[in-house]
Amino acid sequence: MTLTEMRELLAKRDIQLTKSLGQNFLHDGNQLRRIVTAAALSPADRILEIGPGLGPLTELLVAAAGAVLAIEKDGRLVEFLRERFAATPRLTLLHDDALEYLRRGPHDWQDWKLVANLPYSVASPILVDLALSPRRPERMVTTLQLEVAQRLMAGADDEDYGILTLLVQLDYAPREWFKIPAGCFFPAPEVDSACVVLTRRPVPYLREDQRRTFVRLVKRAFSQRRKMMLKLLKQEWPVAALAAAFAELNISPLERAEKLGLEQFTALTKLLHP
Ligand code: SAM
Repeated sequence: MTLTEMRELLAKRDIQLTKSLGQNFLHDGNQLRRIVTAAALSPADRILEIGPGLGPLTELLVAAAGAVLAIEKDGRLVEFLRERFAATPRLTLLHDDALEYLRRGPHDWQDWKLVANLPYSVASPILVDLALSPRRPERMVTTLQLEVAQRLMAGADDEDYGILTLLVQLDYAPREWFKIPAGCFFPAPEVDSACVVLTRRPVPYLREDQRRTFVRLVKRAFSQRRKMMLKLLKQEWPVAALAAAFAELNISPLERAEKLGLEQFTALTKLLHP
């Protein structure tokens, strides 16, 4: 769908785009194809698409994958998509809030891939929910604001490193990424975007039950970024257990959370897990 077709369609149906729903539609064919290539699709694949909008990505997904489940919150777009894809049995379209749908689970996404140009306001919670779910998708190919993409890909001591990085990287390795300039979207957002490919780790760092402790630990450790991590953790764990764990892992009591890598956080989790 070209930019002109997109504009005409919106005008014909009298659809005014809603900023709060992150309605910046991708009209650049090259970028859409790059996203689909990054998803490495086969006819056996099942795809979860969140926020199909007018369906430019959906169209490529149904052509390359076995089944697509697309969840769209805006009823006006759902109505249009139902007409546009009326003859596409491989597509299941849900009119729903994707975050609420995910949280109403449990869902089994183990054999699924997420491929989505995510709405800004819910991109991070959607990714964290999926990444931490016991039956998480095998791959997540997601387009989001460049600044959020940088947080997903960051390493210890990077400016963008933090809670989002660790909660997603616990089970996903960032594989590749590419920038998508603002001009590829209609309307053009104020910032650039990026597509990030996250692949599920074949062997998880932690057991399911330890994962809750990891989330608690990371959130508390980053609750005040500039403070010493040990001081913050004392609010939740006994001092003696913390001192022993820090000593065993050779972590200085003066260290701040942003200096510790994922493997140090998982090692600490194992020692502090009840
Ligand atoms: N996939 C389309 C594209 O690439 O052009 C549209 C992407 S646009 C960035 C985000 C889409 O997500 C919009 O269609 C918007 O209506 C939808 N959306 C916003 N919040 C949502 C939510 N909570 N659940 C499902 N869809 C949502």
